[in-house]
Amino acid sequence: MHDLTLAELAEALASRACSSEELTTHLLARIEQHDGELNSLITVDADNALAAARQADAERSAGRAGRLTGVPLIHKDIFLTAGVRTSCGSRMLKNFVPPFDATVVERCRQAGMVMLGKANMDEFAMGSSNETSYFGPVRNPWDLTRVPGGSSGGSAAAVAAGFAPVATGTDTGGSIRQPAALCGITGLKPTYGRVSRFGMIAFASSLDQAGVFARSAEDAALLLQAMAGFDPRDSTSAELAVPDYAAALTQPLAGLRIGVVDEFFGEGLDAGVAGALEAAIGVLQGLGAEVTRVHLPQLGLSVPTYYVIAPAEASSNLSRFDGVRYGYRCEAPKDLEDLYKRSRSEGFGAEVKRRIMIGTYVLSAGYYDAYYLKAQRCRRLITDDFRRAFEQVDVLVAPSAPEVAFRLGEKADDPLKMYLSDINTIAVNLAGLPGISVPAGQIQGLPVGLQLIGRHFEEARLLNVAHQFQRETDWHRQRPARFA
Ligand code: GLN
Repeated sequence: MHDLTLAELAEALASRACSSEELTTHLLARIEQHDGELNSLITVDADNALAAARQADAERSAGRAGRLTGVPLIHKDIFLTAGVRTSCGSRMLKNFVPPFDATVVERCRQAGMVMLGKANMDEFAMGSSNETSYFGPVRNPWDLTRVPGGSSGGSAAAVAAGFAPVATGTDTGGSIRQPAALCGITGLKPTYGRVSRFGMIAFASSLDQAGVFARSAEDAALLLQAMAGFDPRDSTSAELAVPDYAAALTQPLAGLRIGVVDEFFGEGLDAGVAGALEAAIGVLQGLGAEVTRVHLPQLGLSVPTYYVIAPAEASSNLSRFDGVRYGYRCEAPKDLEDLYKRSRSEGFGAEVKRRIMIGTYVLSAGYYDAYYLKAQRCRRLITDDFRRAFEQVDVLVAPSAPEVAFRLGEKADDPLKMYLSDINTIAVNLAGLPGISVPAGQIQGLPVGLQLIGRHFEEARLLNVAHQFQRETDWHRQRPARFA
């Protein structure tokens, strides 16, 4: 049962081949049995999950079921869940139980989905390897000595290991696409504004976007459908109609103009990854797509630009964790200043502190123009590059990550090396564009991801290309042997 896609499970539930209670019981047992090895979940919510599953079965018997009714999922622990601890991977929120649901959580619930638990993640979504979590690192199901990617590494590992057919994640600089690539699954980061950020703990508000992990593009389409759309509680949520994503999947690719981003295929890209991607591009060509090379000349600016803007916004967002209102509070503070200082020193981990310091510095009087303002100008140049590229082509292709999953600890002491893991994904966030990573090969048993990038709000097209690619290939059907 755990090997089926969401689409197949929805069918099994609809035909009564299984009940949601049976399915939920099976997946909870699997998590119990195997998650000790992966550490992909911070909280397993078995009692509520079983209650929700029974409720879903009752709705179905009463003839009120939708397509997703009774389908289990896992939420990244960055989404607020009413009554269920939401830690954001931090000691700061280790015991925080939110009073309300994030919009994403609420919409999945309204669609009848069953939440199994909350996925491990890098602390406050800062990281590319899931090693900065207060709750310990997540391991890659394909090789337990390697990282699953980050920051949504728990969500990606859980889906790859068959703990749930789908999971949610967030992507500020690559945190859906990069772990999807490293874990051999499909991960979609929608356009900024497509999915509500309400109730999603803020890291860098102008970049953060919620998205989905799945075992196929079709499944990603089904989950995105449930999550997407305007939310009056998020002022940056787009007031645009949501297309029928599933209906768009079947469109043939003949005549589609695909641009291979030259700058992404140069220095720094692993030769094996480059080879796998060349083959994948060949598959798209075989489907009738016209492939050309395009340039994004300012791409080299994206990592430095991001590492000014994201910490700046983070330093501001994380000022709310002061030991007073909610979250961790130090023992026996001497006075108010001591309370702030020690609560934050003890509550935040090293990477979060590094970001707060960088952010505070680049926003400070005297440095603001030299760093923050300049970064905003670079952001515009990068966005303009994409705009020009999309005058020539419909979809861009790039690697999702420069290499396959690296070893735990390999980059943990070198922030610059770690930051370069996102070199292929960050520019897309700076421009607010949608991107998807699909499994497109393997190197010595480790998955490779192909990234497709679209125009603003053209998720349907990305899902369409990804689905057509998956009809021709079976990389997305490979499962890690250990979790078969
Ligand atoms: N790895 C990047 C960072 O650490 C991106 C993280 C993310 O997308 N949440 O900032």
